[in-house]
Amino acid sequence: MKVLLVEDDAAIAQSVTASLTNAGMTVHHSATGTEAIVAAKEFVPEVILMDLGLPDMDGLDVSKSIREFSSTPIIIVSARGDELDRVLGLELGADDYVVKPFSQRELLARIKAVTRRGHDAVPPEPTHGSVRVLIDERTHSATLDGEEVVLTAKEFDLLSFLSSEPGVVFRRNDILEHVWDTNWYGTTKTLDAHIASIRKKLGSPDWIQAVRGVGFKFVEVPK
Ligand code: CA
Repeated sequence: MKVLLVEDDAAIAQSVTASLTNAGMTVHHSATGTEAIVAAKEFVPEVILMDLGLPDMDGLDVSKSIREFSSTPIIIVSARGDELDRVLGLELGADDYVVKPFSQRELLARIKAVTRRGHDAVPPEPTHGSVRVLIDERTHSATLDGEEVVLTAKEFDLLSFLSSEPGVVFRRNDILEHVWDTNWYGTTKTLDAHIASIRKKLGSPDWIQAVRGVGFKFVEVPK
C-alpha cells in the first residue's frame, strides 16, 4: 500500500510515517501543497493523508487540484472542529477525515476503509487464460473465441489451473493436489479422463499437451 502523507509538522510526519511503515505501507512525505501535487502524479499513491494547514496552500485546495487528475482516496487530517465543518461543507471529494490527535489504530482503520471502497469501484481483472480461451473465476465460466464451453466443475477447475500459466508444465501430483485435493495414484486415471474431455470440448488435443514423465501444459492453439 502506497501512502502519500501531506503534513508540514515534522514531528507528526515522523510518527505517522513510522507507524504506517510498521504496518507494511510505503510512505512518501510531502511538507507543502506544491510538493504534494507533484507527488500525487509521480508517486501514484493508493491513499492520500491530507493536512489542512500547510505553509503554502490550503489542504482543501491541494485536494481539489489532485482531484482534477486522480481519484485516489483522500483522508483529511484536521486539527480543529471548525476545519471539519469546512471540509464537510465544501464536499470537495475527500473520502474521509480524522481529527488530531488521532490514534495510529484509528488512522489504519480509516485507510483500510477508504481503500476497500476504492477497490470495490474497480474490480480486479476476473479473467485469465489465453487469447482464445478465457476463464472467468467469478462466473465459473470458460469461453473459446467468445463462445461458452460447457464444462463440469472439475473440468473447469482443471482448465483454470492449467491455463493460469500458459506454457508452464504442471506436474501430475501438483495438479491432483490442487484440483482434487489428493495425490492418491488412483485419481491419475481420472485426471487423464478429464484432460481428454476438455480437449474434446475445446475442439483440439493441442490445447493441453502431455509432457512425458512430468505432467501437462496449456498451450495457445492458433486459429
Ligand atoms: Ca499543519
